[in-house]
Amino acid sequence: IMSTLTFAKGKLYVGTNAEFPPFEYLDKGEVVGFDIDLVKAIGEKLGMEIVIKDMAFDGLIPALETNKIDIVIAGMTASDERKMAVNFSNPYYTANQVIILNDNNSDIKTFDDLKGKLVGVMLGFTGDVVVSEMKDVKSKKYNASYAAIMELQNNKIDAVVLDSETALNYVKNNKGLKLAETSGEPEEYAIAISKKNSELLNKINTALDELKKDGTYEALLKKYM
Ligand code: GLN
Repeated sequence: IMSTLTFAKGKLYVGTNAEFPPFEYLDKGEVVGFDIDLVKAIGEKLGMEIVIKDMAFDGLIPALETNKIDIVIAGMTASDERKMAVNFSNPYYTANQVIILNDNNSDIKTFDDLKGKLVGVMLGFTGDVVVSEMKDVKSKKYNASYAAIMELQNNKIDAVVLDSETALNYVKNNKGLKLAETSGEPEEYAIAISKKNSELLNKINTALDELKKDGTYEALLKKYM
């Protein structure tokens, strides 16, 4: 028995925030990336058409809670705080927070060295939470990671704390940036689903398992990482 109208139509509305390469980003106006390919493969397994809705990261969970979307795939960390609001699938990727610096910065090596510095974070990201919990560190919050990277390059901020894979992507594609050698605690990315929709949660977990077994998941890692 179909639990929602969208489900009944065979469409799965998927919320994401296309500012998080290589997981989701815009290419010629189209939302692409690891997460997008993964969710399309899940859609195929479920026999459902995937409809991508690109929105602000901090609007994703509210959109899920108000049934504007069915699931979220956005490199979203399955944090304990978020688990109070939504269900998460089994994890599909492990990352951690890292520090992005200008090449010529030699005084920041660890998270402790951020004390007294101005650190760029993305609003509502786990990096924002991590930095907010640190004593004597000032943060500047951004809506888009490329904006924080630009301000770092212009020396308006001392560092940016961001998820490892996305940070690496920025360092590779921009001159004059590097990563500090330390990294934070592991975080697991998972698909968020409304607590009201446990049937869909089970289906997504089954599809994820199948994609891991049949090699699709490995192929996507090779394509994007
Ligand atoms: N993993 C981080 C979080 O969940 C960042 C996710 C993202 O920017 N899409 O907050």
